[in-house]
Amino acid sequence: MKPLEQKILDEGIVLGDHVLKVDSFLNHQVDPQLMHSIGQTFAQLFEAEGVTKVLTLESSGIAPAVMTALLLNVPLIFARKRKSLTLKDDLFTEKIFSFTKQEESEVTVSRKFLNGEDRVLLIDDFLANGDAALGLGRIVAQAGATVAGIGIVIEKAFQPGREVLLQQGYRVHSLARIASLDGGKVSFVTESAAQNV
Ligand code: 5GP
Repeated sequence: MKPLEQKILDEGIVLGDHVLKVDSFLNHQVDPQLMHSIGQTFAQLFEAEGVTKVLTLESSGIAPAVMTALLLNVPLIFARKRKSLTLKDDLFTEKIFSFTKQEESEVTVSRKFLNGEDRVLLIDDFLANGDAALGLGRIVAQAGATVAGIGIVIEKAFQPGREVLLQQGYRVHSLARIASLDGGKVSFVTESAAQNV
């Protein structure tokens, strides 16, 4: 059993059959050692992709994304969920449907942080239907930049996100792949990208 999967089994709380709460190490309290190994693994998986920026969505993507950016030695950008007070002209803006809130929100990235030369690694805490990653991908496209890959900490493999992202031609790596949350019990897909997290 890999440390991330063990942590999910030990500390994850299943809400209904579709949502996993991991607020003891990722979504509220953060385990920095675990985030560090996650960053190392993503950095290794994507090191050949010429990544120039890491992009995530505030707030739960920031911890794994900043560690990944540190290990790749590139900046981290987090897309903001509320409109900033600056002029909209200065922003890339996309509407993204939130799986956990079940509502659409507008996310923004300042135009000064992404350009046509960038190869952008998208990092997020969870993958469900793929809306967050697709929305970040649209922001990258607005900038004329390229998505270098997508790194996900916890994929719910029983939801369609991975398929949706693969259909767009993206390279997707998930560190833990959950096959089912049925009956409040977490079970994993046996194979996953990382051997050491
Ligand atoms: P998607 O956009 O792929 O449908 O959902 C991914 C986004 O929704 C992530 O950014 C994550 O914050 C949130 N999310 C989706 N499923 C879960 C879940 O089971 N637990 C938690 N904590 N967040 C989730």
